Amino acid sequence: MSDGTGLAEKLLGLDGFRVLEVVEGPDELVVTIETTAVVTGCSACGTRAVAHERMPIAIRDLACFGRPVRLLWHKRRWRCPDRDCASKTWTERSNHVDAQVVLTRRAGAEACRQVGENARPVSSLAEEMGVCWWTVMNAVVEHGTPLVDDPDRAGPVAHLGIDETSFLKANRHHATVYATGLVDLAAKIVIDMVEGNAAADLRRWCADADPGWLAGVSVVATDLAESFRAGLSPHLDHATRVADPFHVVRVGNRCVDQVRRRVQNETLGHRGRKADPLYRIRKLLLAGHERLDERGHGRMLLGLRVGDPHDELLGAWLAKENVRDLYLTDDPAEAALLIDKAIAGCASDEVAEIRSLGKTLGSWRTEILAYHDTGASNGPTEGLNLCVKKVKRCGHGFRSFDNYRLRVLLHAGGVTWPARPSPPRIRTRTPYSNA
Ligand SMILES: [Zn+2]
Repeated sequence: MSDGTGLAEKLLGLDGFRVLEVVEGPDELVVTIETTAVVTGCSACGTRAVAHERMPIAIRDLACFGRPVRLLWHKRRWRCPDRDCASKTWTERSNHVDAQVVLTRRAGAEACRQVGENARPVSSLAEEMGVCWWTVMNAVVEHGTPLVDDPDRAGPVAHLGIDETSFLKANRHHATVYATGLVDLAAKIVIDMVEGNAAADLRRWCADADPGWLAGVSVVATDLAESFRAGLSPHLDHATRVADPFHVVRVGNRCVDQVRRRVQNETLGHRGRKADPLYRIRKLLLAGHERLDERGHGRMLLGLRVGDPHDELLGAWLAKENVRDLYLTDDPAEAALLIDKAIAGCASDEVAEIRSLGKTLGSWRTEILAYHDTGASNGPTEGLNLCVKKVKRCGHGFRSFDNYRLRVLLHAGGVTWPARPSPPRIRTRTPYSNA
């Protein structure tokens, strides 16, 4: 029975409960508790209820002094003495423990924070707490959903970034499943994740979004994906679309790679090998011209001279450099001249890959030049993609998109976590403080 000093209850910290016994087992501390309530009324008729019986239920709580804790709650069953009352019997409830849940609310909230804020795997937490995977995941959903749904989480957004990440790898049952991430470029948070990367997926999300919120979006930065451009219509037609510089340069790089692979294959009859002249300079070709030192430059030219007899790869490299040059200037008029020069240069080329690059540049000309007016880039989106990938890696694969979305948003969605006490610091004792 309770020792009457209240010390055990203070350590337990669950108001309304009394500690009956503490037993230290080999792997956990078993704390037997009961509620302090002695009088209660029937919820149906208000008659004073009669204690009926007690049944022990096991609950997992936060670890205590480094030891896992099992609470053994002698849960009381009450009975209504009025024989005509429909209530008959019922079990007592507590704010600290939800019905049918193995974790106390505070343990569930902590599990949610570990999985969400710290991106810890659910399985490792389940093992640490001594509960099953579903218990932890349910706690994440229970405690995390209100945080993610909080209307204050993603306030008005002026600069919106949109990018895709892969959600599920292709297997024999399905192709790669993508997810589209929507990012607040100023606050650097993920606003939402949408399953799929098709125009219809993005359009559906926009259709569900608050029209007032959409009206506040002035700039949208995307990669050069036709599906995103189409999906933004009609709900975000008022916003300036910007083609993200990183992705524009990547399109140039892709052209270089394509031509290199083809020329390699045509001249040598096989895919790139370690000693092949073009394979050896594949990284130099993609580096910015201004980043190469004299030696790198010399090596690249030599590789081209040996491996690129018809100057096709050289043409692709020049086209790529023309694309990069766009971002050396801050002046919109100058950028317009440069992109027109790049497009014209590509169009007059005989190499199909380069002509295709020119077409892409022409098709995205307005969006590419919009960067110089708005300065909006998807840089923050790419940074957040790392966080998204971290969640994915820690999850060791997901089956449920809803769980994936929840965990991404808890980790990178700017969630306001409930305040935690900040205890005063205990200062380090130095060997000199003998006073
Ligand atoms: Zn009753």
